[in-house]
Amino acid sequence: MRVLVTGGAGYIGSHASLRLLEDGHEIISIDNLSRGHAQAEAVLAGIAGDRYTAVHCDLHETDRLTKLLLSHRVDVLMHFAALAEVGESVDHPLRYHYNNIAGTVSLLQAVDAAGTSRVVLSSSCSTYGEPEAGQIPISEDTPQNPISPYGDSKLQCERMLRDLAEAYRQADRPFSYVALRYFNVAGCDRQTRLGEDHRPETHLIPICLHTALGKRDKMAIFGTDYPTPDGTCIRDYVHVEDLADAHARAMGVLEPGDEQCYNVGIGKGFSVRECIESSKRVSGIDFQVDDAERRPGDPPELYADVSKIERDLGWKASITDIDETVESAWKWFKSHPDGWPED
Ligand code: UDP
Repeated sequence: MRVLVTGGAGYIGSHASLRLLEDGHEIISIDNLSRGHAQAEAVLAGIAGDRYTAVHCDLHETDRLTKLLLSHRVDVLMHFAALAEVGESVDHPLRYHYNNIAGTVSLLQAVDAAGTSRVVLSSSCSTYGEPEAGQIPISEDTPQNPISPYGDSKLQCERMLRDLAEAYRQADRPFSYVALRYFNVAGCDRQTRLGEDHRPETHLIPICLHTALGKRDKMAIFGTDYPTPDGTCIRDYVHVEDLADAHARAMGVLEPGDEQCYNVGIGKGFSVRECIESSKRVSGIDFQVDDAERRPGDPPELYADVSKIERDLGWKASITDIDETVESAWKWFKSHPDGWPED
């Protein structure tokens, strides 16, 4: 299939592109390089040759996007491009409204104009907000009450697709979409071709590994008094290659009229302390960790009920051991201590 991937130079978009290329698909990657890395595109181009095209284009360039969808006769849109930092979204909400919400409106206007009829959306468990203890593990039926502009922006994107699907149904036009609600995505390509490089880095496992590498003197645990067994927050860390597999499967089964959402996680959680211990074990390096205040907006415990995606798509995380996830990231961080080279 011919797949247009937005955000194809980013962490998840590049890993998903790699998987789709390995499956024999053709990728048209668009990225404005505001957060993505041209070096990731270069790696993918080196692997796939003329089955991979990278275009530097912004989501707001509706006409250009329409032309790309038409000229490449795109079968499926995979929409990864988004700003994805909860804290940043609280400090700079309009950035999130502009990039994630207005950007997706523009992209879907292009989809509408070009007649692209299949969409896979990167959504997020942050659309659920802070579920109550009785709602853990989180199923797709858990009410979506986001508590950050980021989570809200992803929910708005889901709603745009829902509304578009409804309008097309009324008009008897074929359309289908799936929203994949990721939990915490971690790890890197186990062959070390692609990696994770956010600037600034805010995610737990990369911060642990930066500290192990000595790029930081120490790190902090944000909150040690949560109502969890060791007092630190619990999250569901899904390996990025398993997440890419979920995209490949979701794309493969989309039939006209399908409207679906799936949680993508491993179905169990690890605490912040467990991730730190894993990072020390895997790297063989001890590093300084300080206890710190809670980070605003962090729910104590989030992990997924993954029975729906297992049942419908036959998808199950192949990596559920935190050390294996951390190991794959460690290999990349060790070989790329400064991340992707600057262009
Ligand atoms: N965290 C931490 N120290 C750090 C970074 C993160 O204690 O330097 C905690 C954070 O408060 C949360 C968990 O690690 O409880 C996962 O955070 P991350 O930012 O990786 O993902 P999130 O769950 O916010 O999407």
